[in-house]
Amino acid sequence: MSPTTSQLSEFIRSLYQTNEFIPLHAPTFGEREKQNVLDTIESTFVSSVGEYVTSFEKQVEAFTGAHRAIATVNGTAALHTALYMSGVEQGDFVITQALTFVATCNAIHHMGAEPVFVDVNRQTLGMCPVALEAYLDESAITDGENCIHKRSGRKICACVPMHTFGHPVQLDELVTVCKKWNIELVEDAAESLGSFYKGQHTGTKARFSALSFNGNKIITTGGGGMLLCANETEARRAKHITTTAKVPHPYEFYHDEPGFNYRMPNLNAALGCAQMEKLETFIEKKRELAQQYRHFFKDSNFQFIDEPSECRSNFWLNAILCENERIRDSVLEEQNRAGIMCRPIWQLMNKLPMFKHCLHGELPISEDIQSRLVNIPSSPIGWDTI
Ligand SMILES: *Cc1c(COP(=O)(O)O)cnc(C)c1O
Repeated sequence: MSPTTSQLSEFIRSLYQTNEFIPLHAPTFGEREKQNVLDTIESTFVSSVGEYVTSFEKQVEAFTGAHRAIATVNGTAALHTALYMSGVEQGDFVITQALTFVATCNAIHHMGAEPVFVDVNRQTLGMCPVALEAYLDESAITDGENCIHKRSGRKICACVPMHTFGHPVQLDELVTVCKKWNIELVEDAAESLGSFYKGQHTGTKARFSALSFNGNKIITTGGGGMLLCANETEARRAKHITTTAKVPHPYEFYHDEPGFNYRMPNLNAALGCAQMEKLETFIEKKRELAQQYRHFFKDSNFQFIDEPSECRSNFWLNAILCENERIRDSVLEEQNRAGIMCRPIWQLMNKLPMFKHCLHGELPISEDIQSRLVNIPSSPIGWDTI
């Protein structure tokens, strides 16, 4: 038996205990956020100099176990830097999943490279290692150093899987395929702060990965991102690149290579430091909420998207699969009309005007999920007591 539309609305309202509009995901702030932000204003250190940036980076390193974390203005900037540091060059191909947020592909485009889309896995909603390997078997060769796209002769430089809604992708399998084909793995971990794959935090397998702290993510700095680096020398260069490549000097300006102005302002980092203190609680609350949804949708015609085996998800956004597109559309229509925000998943990247000419493998699972998935309200409940 499946819950009716009104049973679903009633259930979600009973979770959030409100008759007002229920957003998909709202940020949560307390006294500490106010204190920290006020502190940057009172000290005048709101911009590119200040203590909070370093503290925030240290907090993220401690939480994720990443060797180094470098704060950036947003997640797209972190991803752009990750691709830059990975050696992606103009005209290269970069493989990613068709089902992702557009920022993944924008970062590839900003490098002058072109995305190539492969299918996702039904359990993780992230890049499928079998689809990746099938695409490479059919379209590429490797000389033991580079991976070359056969028909065009262009280099396939990197592969960017994304941990969709916080559910980790099959990293071990993807690493194996990337190693075999001499492709650099870059993790788009924008949605997965707090998610672990076989006990290891997402974003720490690749040499370079990106996190996001946009307003809708599990913690926010207003706008912000973080580049995770596995290696000290590369981390130093990455920091240098994201801060206009200025050679340190008390008063002189000297820059030794083209750089980005991607440094996170101290004002945003102040918010981030306060939010990091709440991260464990947010994850706990989100996992409790996921448990409630899991139970509600059990034995129904809606399939709750659960965490993949051997993984611990942050359950950033909860999602269900409807029986078909028609039911998906009616759920979207009726929940939104009832003041409960629900959303479809992103349009497939190869359907967008700027990427529709891009190469892609077979995408049956991406297409199926795209037509049936609905995101349901996911703000942590009981946050006002945090
Ligand atoms: C949020 C997000 C990003 C980065 O977004 P910013 O808004 O630039 O911080 C990148 N990739 C994915 C999949 C995202 O969800």
